[in-house]
Amino acid sequence: MPIASVNPATGETIRTFEPLTEAQIDEKLQRAAETFRGYRHTTFEARESMMMRAAEILETEKNDFARLMTVEMGKPIKGAVGEAEKCAWVCRYYQENARKHLADTLVETNAKKSFVRFEPLGPVLAVMPWNFPFWQVFRFAAPALMAGNVGLLKHASNVPQCALAIEDIFRRAGFPEGAFQTLLVGSDVVPRILEDRRVVAATLTGSEPAGRSVASIAGKQIKKTVLELGGSDAFIVMPSAELKEAVTTAVKARTINNGQSCIAAKRFIVAADIYDEFERRFVEEMKMLRVGDPLDEATDIGPLATEQILKDVDEQVKTSVASGAHILTGGKKLDRPGNFYPPTVLANIPNDSPAYCEEVFGPVALLFRVNNIDEAMALANGTTFGLGAAAWTNDLPEQERVIDEIEAGCVFINGMVASDPRLPFGGVKKSGYGRELGEFGIHEFVNIKTVWIK
Ligand code: NAP
Repeated sequence: MPIASVNPATGETIRTFEPLTEAQIDEKLQRAAETFRGYRHTTFEARESMMMRAAEILETEKNDFARLMTVEMGKPIKGAVGEAEKCAWVCRYYQENARKHLADTLVETNAKKSFVRFEPLGPVLAVMPWNFPFWQVFRFAAPALMAGNVGLLKHASNVPQCALAIEDIFRRAGFPEGAFQTLLVGSDVVPRILEDRRVVAATLTGSEPAGRSVASIAGKQIKKTVLELGGSDAFIVMPSAELKEAVTTAVKARTINNGQSCIAAKRFIVAADIYDEFERRFVEEMKMLRVGDPLDEATDIGPLATEQILKDVDEQVKTSVASGAHILTGGKKLDRPGNFYPPTVLANIPNDSPAYCEEVFGPVALLFRVNNIDEAMALANGTTFGLGAAAWTNDLPEQERVIDEIEAGCVFINGMVASDPRLPFGGVKKSGYGRELGEFGIHEFVNIKTVWIK
């Protein structure tokens, strides 16, 4: 099957690519292995100057990269420009901090000298999703390359042009041929690549089934994996919260990237005392969002990335409504070309409906009323996912309870969950394992080597 770039706002096929042949895949794996042999010995100075150059390219050409993302997967252009800038930030963060994070660490023992050294592992396979087609890749690639590894990108099949553009950025930044390669292949050949002895580890950002498959193959091969999977983040609002700010942030947290973010707030859990007021304001603000051409600066919500995602979201909402959920706004795909789904709010959601049990990857918000913080915590943790959570409360004991009890990889108090190059990012439960970003992220793909000298 060819790999296609299809504009989700119009349905037009922009370009198609033939997937790599077996021989081409083999050539790229060989190049990765050979490049690694030399690249692992490059100095930090050399890697830093290449990474800085990658950041400069991203900054200078951010508008072109943004257009590419928007045309290929439909994110509103203002968010796409921000994404290119954030990629430059993560390059600069690791350019400035990798050397410190990877410095030998002395440990006092009975030896004359003992220490820990961090060494690169080799070619790492990155299986990536389309929703943040640049950011997801750079947050893997910047630390991996700074640590001396080389990268092999198997990007989502609907964003081949972004995948090629990223490879080109690293080439132009001066990284050696083979340090970062894009493999235009379908997911069916991922097992064969993972099983290849030249690939030493893998990271996957995507859905639970994809994570399960990659982890099980890597497990059989005894290869390290990091998994960043789905989420169903709770957004708790308690009576002491600053309501106006909470509502505006809630709308943004649910609809950013057309609602297709793993860390989007998906379940809004609101204390009964303020529930009616929250619901009224939230629905009002959701209705005000502008749905339309994602290339227009004024657009808040563009199309969903593929026709299949539109069908899935529509089906999840329809089935949930059939089993008793109430639609407060939206709830029906728009009658126009492109994969457009309106901002939607559901309430009274039965606990056996898809909206309750599954991740809804679109601008669909779920509202829940609770009587107290105990109920809020039980509902927030009553999911198989554990990626992020936000809680809005100015009550200090309540804040402490949420921090202590939430089963998630991060918790934001009086704010919206967001990734930041300086802070570790990842999940627990079915949201995956391992961490990206910050100091923890760069330690995922290194050999933590103990050295003991008498
Ligand atoms: P997906 O279908 O799992 O695809 C992600 C990547 O995995 C793509 O490159 C895909 O290739 C590949 N893939 C799919 N099935 C595979 C398999 N069985 N074996 C190996 N590779 C496979 O996910 P998606 O729908 O694109 O992305 C949305 C999901 O990603 C959501 O669940 C979202 O929450 C999650 N996500 C998580 C994070 C995080 O940091 N935790 C960030 C962003 C997104 P093809 O495109 O060729 O199928």
